[in-house]
Amino acid sequence: MAKRYDLIAIGAGSGGLSVAERAAKYGAKCAVIEAKKLGGTCVNLGCVPKKVMWYGASVAHTLRDAPDYGFDVTLKAFSWETLKHARDDYVSGINSWYRTYLKDSDIDEITGHARFIDANTLEVDGKHFSAEHIVIAPGSYPVVPQLPGAEHGATSDDFFAWETLPERVAVVGSGYIAVEIAGMLNALGADVTMLLRREHLLRPFDAMLRECLMEEMIDAGVNIVTSSQIGEIIRQSDGSLDLICADTGQLIGRFDQLLWAIGRAPATPGMDLVNAGVSIDQDGYIETDPFQNTNIPGVYAVGDVTGRAQLTPVAIAAARRLADRLFGGMKDRKLEYDLIPTVVFSHPPIATVGLTESEAREIHGSAVKIYQSRFTPMYHAFTEHQSKIAMKLVTVGAREKLVGCHVIGIGADEMLQGFAVAMRMGATKQDFDDTIAIHPSAAEELVTMR
Ligand SMILES: Cc1cc2nc3c(=O)[nH]c(=O)nc-3n(C[C@H](O)[C@H](O)[C@H](O)COP(=O)(O)OP(=O)(O)OC[C@H]3O[C@@H](n4cnc5c(N)ncnc54)[C@H](O)[C@@H]3O)c2cc1C
Repeated sequence: MAKRYDLIAIGAGSGGLSVAERAAKYGAKCAVIEAKKLGGTCVNLGCVPKKVMWYGASVAHTLRDAPDYGFDVTLKAFSWETLKHARDDYVSGINSWYRTYLKDSDIDEITGHARFIDANTLEVDGKHFSAEHIVIAPGSYPVVPQLPGAEHGATSDDFFAWETLPERVAVVGSGYIAVEIAGMLNALGADVTMLLRREHLLRPFDAMLRECLMEEMIDAGVNIVTSSQIGEIIRQSDGSLDLICADTGQLIGRFDQLLWAIGRAPATPGMDLVNAGVSIDQDGYIETDPFQNTNIPGVYAVGDVTGRAQLTPVAIAAARRLADRLFGGMKDRKLEYDLIPTVVFSHPPIATVGLTESEAREIHGSAVKIYQSRFTPMYHAFTEHQSKIAMKLVTVGAREKLVGCHVIGIGADEMLQGFAVAMRMGATKQDFDDTIAIHPSAAEELVTMR
């Protein structure tokens, strides 16, 4: 006999935990099924450990600049091990917190890999569980290409297990995970080469951000190789990896670690979606309507597995709204997927919300007006290492409504959240102009741009 629930979430990551937590608050009997660790990718292999490493890299930059501020700093060593273990302890603390929280909230934690028996029934290690509402939230996993020797490379999951800082690292990919890991490894002392299949970093981002980041990373010492296609990886007897070019058969370089950061795929394999009749698109993502419904009544999907805006706060927001709709009596509650602010924790960081300039021009044509600025922030005015800030406001129409805001540079990561609120409320350029600047700050440029 299957144990019955009102709601079961498959996956105890950002989406699964959030939907169960909110549903339980409304009095629903809930369970989460988790194959690995509570907290999912964000807590264990994503945002949280990544941000710790980013802070570590930022400390390295502060130490680099310290003599310019009058400090006599003799740097003896950097211990990757110390940082890694402190980070792992921090993450374990979050795992334990979730375990207690689930117990306190009367949400059952079921450990194991879930697969569908039918649209209302799941099987985990031979035991059956059924629910009126099943939320699919298994996230995504990093893709490794199919080419000889690819298995010698690591993924972002493996990166978080590295016990030592490699000397020479190749990072393959141009997305945000690639630039973040490349930036932090470089700052912490590795010799980093990024291999891009095409010309640009962060292809979907505003051109200003892409170009500035490329300049800044090269300036910081990252070797960026564009239009490169790896054909084979050969492991040498000393453990190092030779990367062979697909077109020429020539050696691209020899590295101690190779990191694949070429994209992620929906974590649906082994879930037997077919038994529930849930349809997926050609890339394997679960198709959902604006209310997170799949094609099967009573089965929903949230988070990375839907292929839309793969970010933790998006998974959480979609999940909470779904629970509000199913158990909170808010029948029209759903997530609006536009104007999602996000930060790339590159060095320097990027913060972005809304349309890029080229997207705006495609949609709004000549109604687009751009304001932009590039300057040296006061912090770098007298440091030997120089890094600039660049900002762009994308406005449309006679009232110059803000539809895009893009910033790269020191402090950008903590700058944009409030501006995103203003944009969601329909702010115009005049509203920005009428706002008193905070001085001296870099953010003040956003309300003083001409
Ligand atoms: C390196 C990296 C850095 C990132 N940085 C950021 C960031 O700075 N900011 C941000 O917003 N987002 C970031 N993300 C993205 C963010 O982590 C994801 O968008 C978010 O975790 C998605 O939540 P989810 O609930 O869809 O899936 P997940 O959090 O991945 O949770 C899914 C869970 O389901 C489990 N699972 C899968 N299949 C089954 C099954 N059949 N049965 C039982 N359990 C199963 C998995 O083990 C996993 O724990 C980052 C991701 C990566 C990889």
